[in-house]
Amino acid sequence: MITLATNNAHKLEEFQDLLGVPLRSLRDVPGAPDVVEDGETFEANAIKKAQSLADLTGGWALADDSGLEVDALGGAPGVYSARFAGEHGNDTANNRLLLEKLTDQTDRAARFVCVLALCHPTETPRIFRGECEGRIALSSSGTGGFGYDPLFVPVGHRESFAALGPELKQKISHRARALALLLADAQAREVLEI
Ligand code: IMP
Repeated sequence: MITLATNNAHKLEEFQDLLGVPLRSLRDVPGAPDVVEDGETFEANAIKKAQSLADLTGGWALADDSGLEVDALGGAPGVYSARFAGEHGNDTANNRLLLEKLTDQTDRAARFVCVLALCHPTETPRIFRGECEGRIALSSSGTGGFGYDPLFVPVGHRESFAALGPELKQKISHRARALALLLADAQAREVLEI
């Protein structure tokens, strides 16, 4: 069984559902150190998390890193998405700061990015990148989802991810697209025993 580099029970459940196989998480690996996500790219952070876990367990490990890129902000918040406003994971403050930075900005193009890294102590990491294009709304709407979902309107839609609901999001999201690429990869399927 491969290990997912997360302590987050919600993320573990989401990946197990989407992949259809049981996974171990960091909770099942005693002594797993907290990895500092200090990479400059989603790829660097995902590889760092998966590789350290693969080296520790001696087997295959999977990790993801994700975030929001806004064109008018030169790609920010990017790898800093979770701590855009300072405190890690403060969604309300992050959304408020994003709206503030885009005041009077007409170019509101943005994308969510999710990078998956599948690593082994002696193999080259396999990387899968999923993107979901959209734009940043003028104000928050909807009650579903998390993070920047109340502000992100995917291409082809008029409402935010938070308003559109989980069923549609799970079909078109950056995470769904990265996982679809992983599921289409023969070596990844073999490793995951799918
Ligand atoms: P992480 O990959 O779990 O570290 O997520 C990084 C941050 O990116 C989250 O805290 C959110 O702010 C943002 N983010 C990533 N994926 C999503 C999403 O699907 N919806 C909304 N925000 C997201």
